[in-house]
Amino acid sequence: MTLPAEHQATLLVVDDMIENIEILNNALFDRYRILFATNGPEALTVVREQSPDLILLDVVMPGMNGYQVCERLKQDPLTREIPVIFVTAKDQEEDEEIGLRLGAVDYLTKPVRPGIVRLRVGIHLELKRYRDYLARLSMTDGLTGIANRRRFDEFLEIQWLHVARSRTVLSLILADVDHFKAYNDHYGHVAGDHCLQRVATTLASGLTRRTDLAARYGGEEFACVLLGTDHADALVVAERLRRQVASLRLDHARSPEHSFVTVSMGVATLEPDQHVDPQALIEKADQHLYQAKKMGRNRVVGNQ
Ligand code: GH3
Ligand code: MG
Ligand code: MG
Repeated sequence: MTLPAEHQATLLVVDDMIENIEILNNALFDRYRILFATNGPEALTVVREQSPDLILLDVVMPGMNGYQVCERLKQDPLTREIPVIFVTAKDQEEDEEIGLRLGAVDYLTKPVRPGIVRLRVGIHLELKRYRDYLARLSMTDGLTGIANRRRFDEFLEIQWLHVARSRTVLSLILADVDHFKAYNDHYGHVAGDHCLQRVATTLASGLTRRTDLAARYGGEEFACVLLGTDHADALVVAERLRRQVASLRLDHARSPEHSFVTVSMGVATLEPDQHVDPQALIEKADQHLYQAKKMGRNRVVGNQ
């Protein structure tokens, strides 16, 4: 995975004085797309709607001040990672400390020097780009490029809480490549790796909802998490995925049942009001997967 090319970043400038916004705009408009807000609540709305890459935030504003805006941004997982630079006439040491303690990455005092603002903004955007890159990397499976086990565990844990709160359903599909040891023995590990890449891509692109997740669970096993999908619908999705893998028609000369690569799948669903933990859901799906293997592979098994 390589660092993505730099795109034109979007900055949000928040200040109750238009003159101050103009000064920052003049310093930055030739490099970045600039959004404005003249008070705290407006700033929070712009952040939610436009997801800026960095925020330049005035401290003293009528109503909600900059510290309060920063606090709100840091509480929300969706906005927590956006770098905030305070820009303010306050230059007491304690003020700077408050700002940095609230999670701001930097603190600039007015009157701002355009050259310094440009440099600091550039540095913090670059750092953010690296942080994002590393975060993505740590959640991606190196071989297949889809989500890895860490991402799967984290996703399931978060969605679990969501499901409990909103009383919805969640389904899990566990998929395992059939006779994959024999595949490796016959075609070699490099071909085995290539096969896993094809299966992973097929599963990931076979999921259509934006909230679905396909992950490599380990070895030749994959997991799909389907939010808001009940058991009957999850069985339909699993059956479609199973067929899509089979129709790749990847040669498997050593498969006793077919001449091509197939997967077996187990499906389990968490219904509202069930008091089970994520581990129990995984175990259920795994039991169904085991039955699918026993019944002859290349099939989907769910609740009987
Ligand atoms: P079953 O149909 O019962 O699932 O049989 P199987 O042979 O697929 O299951 P088994 O668990 O015996 O073998 C899994 C094989 O998957 C063994 C292991 O070497 C291979 N494998 C796991 N991870 C990788 C990988 O990253 N690359 C390759 N090439 N092979 C892998
Ligand atoms: Mg296995
Ligand atoms: Mg297997």
